[in-house]
Amino acid sequence: METEIVYAEEEMAHEAISKAVRLLDDGEVVALPTETVYGLGANALDADAVAKVFAAKERPSFDPLIIHLATRESIHDYCEISPELNEVVQKLIQEFWPGPLTMVLPKKGIIPDIVTSGLPTVAVRMSAHPIMQDICQAFGKPIAAPSANRFGRISPTSAGAVLKELEGKIPLIVDGGACNAGIESTIVRVEVGKSRPELHLLRAGPVVKEDLQKIGKVIRPKKLTERARKALLEKQGEEGLNKPEAPGMLESHYAPSTPLYVFDKPEEFQPEEGMSYALLSYRGQAKDGYMELHDWDVVEELSPGKGKLGEAAVRLFHVLRMLDESGVDAIVAEPVAETGLGVAINDRLRRASQR
Ligand code: AMP
Ligand code: MG
Repeated sequence: METEIVYAEEEMAHEAISKAVRLLDDGEVVALPTETVYGLGANALDADAVAKVFAAKERPSFDPLIIHLATRESIHDYCEISPELNEVVQKLIQEFWPGPLTMVLPKKGIIPDIVTSGLPTVAVRMSAHPIMQDICQAFGKPIAAPSANRFGRISPTSAGAVLKELEGKIPLIVDGGACNAGIESTIVRVEVGKSRPELHLLRAGPVVKEDLQKIGKVIRPKKLTERARKALLEKQGEEGLNKPEAPGMLESHYAPSTPLYVFDKPEEFQPEEGMSYALLSYRGQAKDGYMELHDWDVVEELSPGKGKLGEAAVRLFHVLRMLDESGVDAIVAEPVAETGLGVAINDRLRRASQR
């Protein structure tokens, strides 16, 4: 299959949108721009179309997809929301939609099981990217869209990166420019709670804990203890362990092909004789302890000089790709400040790292 890229800027937008909608109507998959990363979209109400997303990405069927809505109101068409739950859902929508917040809510029967991997809940969001919004509106049905990369690999933040991941496997990439948040959406499972609403943080992202705390109690799912992990493995095998509701799973993710290491302290880095190393530095400053630790073969900075977490997030996957292609034997990534958006950036770095 030949993969076409269509530009969706200015006067090209109309044609790009109609092409995408035509393919979605025909049950095909299309790569689409969002403000977080590029998504691989299909008609969320058509199980056969959604199956093509899993096939193109080589994604295991136990990893559910996010559905993208055209309007805030349509959430009630796809989610079963009690009046008590609706109070908190509406607050989250008012505050963060359209935007990079995904809510996990009880699903309605109209959503096929393949979308949710058989879970009774569905992950929903409304993108702030104008082209994605236009496509959702013109299509008129929810679009199931995970990140447009092969499973476990680095998420794409440009049309070119999608092409590298999925060329020949999908018919169309809609090029809507570079993604301006740069990392995947924040995911919360929303619950009414006893005294305050509970927001179970399933994935850290651009909407940070400090923002969410205004609406409810932010709860980080506990990691499985080694005993619980073994019990689950015995009972359900790898699949059980990897269900996203088994917290802390899918730990290896967003990975470049080149081995990547994240250390708690710079001194833990012990270079091996004859190996070439790249440094993924936060802001390129010696005082952070990494720049002068080694005679690095390649150095890339996430936020040169300044150490701005927003800039670091936008550049993260792009820079990871560059280092992956630079031909070094291994990458050492310096963690960023563990506050605000830094939590999500460090989360992606740790998941990309060798354990
Ligand atoms: P991606 O689309 O690649 O960003 O991945 C979507 C992620 O959303 C999955 O890997 C899951 O972790 C999460 N997710 C989707 N649906 C659910 C759900 N019903 N419950 C919990 N997590 C979900
Ligand atoms: Mg993904």
